[in-house]
Amino acid sequence: MNEIEEKRSALAQGLQQFLTYCDQAQEIITSKEVTPSPQMDFSALVDTILPLPLDKDAPEGATMKQLQRMVGECTRCRLCETRNHTVFGEGVLPARLLIIGEGPGGDEDASGRAFVGRAGQYLDTWLAPVGLSRSTNVYLANIIKCRPPENRNPHADEIAFCLPFVKRQIKLVKPELILLAGGVASKALLNTDEGVGKLRGRFHRYEGVPVLVTYHPAGVLRNEDLKRPVWEDIKKVAAFLNLTLPGKSR
Ligand code: URA
Repeated sequence: MNEIEEKRSALAQGLQQFLTYCDQAQEIITSKEVTPSPQMDFSALVDTILPLPLDKDAPEGATMKQLQRMVGECTRCRLCETRNHTVFGEGVLPARLLIIGEGPGGDEDASGRAFVGRAGQYLDTWLAPVGLSRSTNVYLANIIKCRPPENRNPHADEIAFCLPFVKRQIKLVKPELILLAGGVASKALLNTDEGVGKLRGRFHRYEGVPVLVTYHPAGVLRNEDLKRPVWEDIKKVAAFLNLTLPGKSR
C-alpha cells in the first residue's frame, strides 16, 4: 500500500471509529443500551476528502468524479483547442440502459451537456414510450467528448485518444444493456467496419455487456425511412429490459 492508500484506509477506519464513539455517547446520554452502528461504506466520502491523485494516462482506475475531471482537463488531441466545453455524459447511476452517441454538437458544446440539442430531444421521444429516460434509468454518453469543428466526423486518432474514457464510463455506469447510436459509436466500440444496417437487429457484446445498435437520431431526422427500423430497435431494447410497450400489458 502506498502513502495515499494508507491515509485513505486510516481515514475510513477513523470514520467507522467515530460512529462507535457516537454509539457510546448516545448510550451515556440516554442511559439505554444502543445497538452498534453497522460497518459502513465510506468510500465516496474518502474519495471526496482524500481523492486519489489523477493519472491523466490511466482512466482505468478512476472514479466517475475523477474521470469527469480528467475529461474536463484533457488535451490529448486537437479538439481541445476548439471546444467550449467537454461533454462528459449524464443520467442515472447505475443505469439500466447506456446510450452511446458520436460526439457533442453545437448545443452540447455550448452547454457541456450530452444530447440536449435537436437530435437529443428527438432521442428522448424514442425512449419515453417504453418508460426510459435520463432521469430514471438511462445514462447518455458519447464516443468523443469534444465537438469536432463544423460537426465533422471525428478522426481516427481523436476516437483512439477518447476511447479509454468511454470504456471506463461503461464500467462505472454498469448498464444491463448498451445501445450504440450511429456508425461512429458502433464501429468504435465493436471494432468493426460494418455499417449500422448490418449491425442492427441482433445482440453483440462489449466485454460481456449485451449491445444493440441503431441509427443516430440526427440521421433519422434527415431520413424518415429510418423511423420504422429505429422503433423495431427500441422495442428490442424494451423487451430485453422487460419494459412494457405502449398499448400492451405485461
Ligand atoms: N449527437 C451525439 O452523438 N451526441 C450528442 O450528445 C449530441 C448529438
